[in-house]
Amino acid sequence: MGRPVTHKNEDVDRKDRMKPIINHLVQLQELIEARAQQEASLENAQLSQLNEAIQTLTKGLPETISLQFARLQKKGFVGIVPIANGVCTGCGMAIPVSLAHAVRAAEQIYACPNCARLLYSPATALPRRTAAPARRFTEQKVGISRFSSPTLMIPNSAAKTRDELLEEICTKLDAEGFVDDGKKLYVESLRREAIVSTAVDHGLAFPHVRGVEGGGLTLALATSKKGIKFGSPDKKLTRLVFFVVIPTAASAFYLTLLSGLTATFRNKAHSEKILEAETPQQMWKLLSSATRTTIR
Ligand SMILES: [Zn+2]
Repeated sequence: MGRPVTHKNEDVDRKDRMKPIINHLVQLQELIEARAQQEASLENAQLSQLNEAIQTLTKGLPETISLQFARLQKKGFVGIVPIANGVCTGCGMAIPVSLAHAVRAAEQIYACPNCARLLYSPATALPRRTAAPARRFTEQKVGISRFSSPTLMIPNSAAKTRDELLEEICTKLDAEGFVDDGKKLYVESLRREAIVSTAVDHGLAFPHVRGVEGGGLTLALATSKKGIKFGSPDKKLTRLVFFVVIPTAASAFYLTLLSGLTATFRNKAHSEKILEAETPQQMWKLLSSATRTTIR
């Protein structure tokens, strides 16, 4: 079994004692990814706000962990990754059963024996009530239909503000059975926007909530012909809003989905076309055909 990165301290040794630090690390990872995604388009003020948040979080970590995290960042690695189906999602190596148990117990923080990334068990992070099992996109599906559905298309929303729109999307995800607590999802999405806006240029925004349990990576798409102030770096109105629910085990797929969507909808022809959709079915058809080559 792997050696723990943290040192054992008999006084505080108990199950789950590392949970707060694991959540801390996952949040830090999120900020670093946000910075990487938006660095080019962010204004100085936003960038320094983001850098400050990253620094504060890093300082709050135990030294052994922040050192290991910094080493991984230097190599260009994601610092902390979930174990999914018994495998390290960073490098794909199967994790010994005893180590997987220890990671789940969260008394200590462990690193992958192969790639040295810090490990956590998805159930450890952001615990959340799970009522009805969320729907899954499974067998035989290809392209965007693995992540979304016609019922999650909101053509030309009447929402006037960012918050109204986010609430509408979260309510939809709940009503259609894709998440079990739409209100909580909405609150979490606002918390994410408060760190730094998920709006990018070309009228696109990618609000998201991480650490949601149950179900798969899920995308809802809302459009606004009039446009909404979403805090875009180019100060332009946002017209296409891609909302993604990210279960911990699917973090890696999220980046693939995000890059596919960005590649497709930076192309004005695609985004103009999808804005013309009047029904969810039309919108779904356009989304499916536009992403045929970029999301497989
Ligand atoms: Zn690994």
